[in-house]
Amino acid sequence: MTQRAELLIFRNIRSFDPAQGLDETGDVVVEAGRITRMGPDAAGDLADAPGARVVDGTGRWLLPAFVDLHAHLREPGQEYKEDIASGLAAAAAGGYAHVCVMPNTKPVNDTRAVTEMMLRRAAECGGARLHPIGAITLGQAGQELTEMAELREAGAVAVSDDGVCVMSSAVMRRALEYARNFDMPVIQHAEDHELTAGAAMNEGAVSTRLGLRGWPRVAEDIIIARDVLLAEYVGARYHVAHISTRGAVRIIREAKARGLPVTCEVTPHHLLLTDAAVIGYDTACKVNPPLREEEDAAVLREALADGTIDAVATDHAPHSPLEKDCEFREASPGLMGLELCFGLLLETFGQGKAPARLVEALSTRPARIAGIEPPALREGATAELVLIDPEARWVPGATPLQSKSRNTPFLQRELQGRVLMTLADGRVVFEAPEVSR
Ligand SMILES: [Zn+2]
Repeated sequence: MTQRAELLIFRNIRSFDPAQGLDETGDVVVEAGRITRMGPDAAGDLADAPGARVVDGTGRWLLPAFVDLHAHLREPGQEYKEDIASGLAAAAAGGYAHVCVMPNTKPVNDTRAVTEMMLRRAAECGGARLHPIGAITLGQAGQELTEMAELREAGAVAVSDDGVCVMSSAVMRRALEYARNFDMPVIQHAEDHELTAGAAMNEGAVSTRLGLRGWPRVAEDIIIARDVLLAEYVGARYHVAHISTRGAVRIIREAKARGLPVTCEVTPHHLLLTDAAVIGYDTACKVNPPLREEEDAAVLREALADGTIDAVATDHAPHSPLEKDCEFREASPGLMGLELCFGLLLETFGQGKAPARLVEALSTRPARIAGIEPPALREGATAELVLIDPEARWVPGATPLQSKSRNTPFLQRELQGRVLMTLADGRVVFEAPEVSR
């Protein structure tokens, strides 16, 4: 188990927290797991106190720790890919204090017993804090609703059948009505399965060239459009997982303009890659929804920058070589991403500048969507912080990773911006050797 930070001083560090209007350089003092002092020379002579640990902040950033709305930690059932301990360690190494975990485990998290088991395991592990997402329907079969009241009481923060779409409009309507009672978001994996039957990648020029069956953009858009209408009709919160198309952005932008409680997330790979990455049949690039075209990625980047897209979520989906070292058609979809997310994003969205929008998208807004107290840089707050070296260049794979899996096309890519230390719930849950210099 990790220890509470009794007296930890970040000296002369640049701190950002757009929710507090904060961008200043000074000291940040953590005592007994709480932020107690902030500002130029705020540490004073505390640095000489017995047991004080001082971290040199020169050239570094301190941000509110991140919150992931979408990860697959594979326990129970597929612990050879990942388990709660390795997944929460990977999250901590990625700068996350909170991880919301999808219910498509074996068995599915559709009961209080599974939700409670996950929370018990997480409490033994340390690392980031785990928040279960319960299933919408029993066995994620799309028919019968789960007992959302029990899932909520046991600690679920949202419901989703992620991995499969709730195809029935009637079931989706009842799910929205039921979840509304607890102010829980219903998270949709938007995919019309009849339009995507047998698909291995995005439908377009590249799928034609490769002779692979395509997953058309409209299969995502059609479900989001329907769900927005349902959410409006019943007056419920609706959140779209991993949006990937220009059409999805347009529908959500319109819904927000009309004041509907609709939110969405995007993954780093949909922001940065296109279906051209599939040309070598690299199964590490097989993901659901699939990598789209440059126009989609460009629209997603713009929508993230202007706030139409609320959050960046990793959709951390670890797989072993068993699921990936095979024919493209047969390979399981998904990328691992908890440890790479920040390094992938900084170059595109924050390089050299204040990473204000990134902090919102990685921390404040996802926390609000999941009903988690947002990590904050202010005196009195529980220390949930991430220490960043914005200049550090590193290569995932060359630098040790905590996840059990390695399924990502970014494995040998040089990334900029490295997480050096993460605090969750007042505890240091991750520390890179470079912290002390
Ligand atoms: Zn999904």
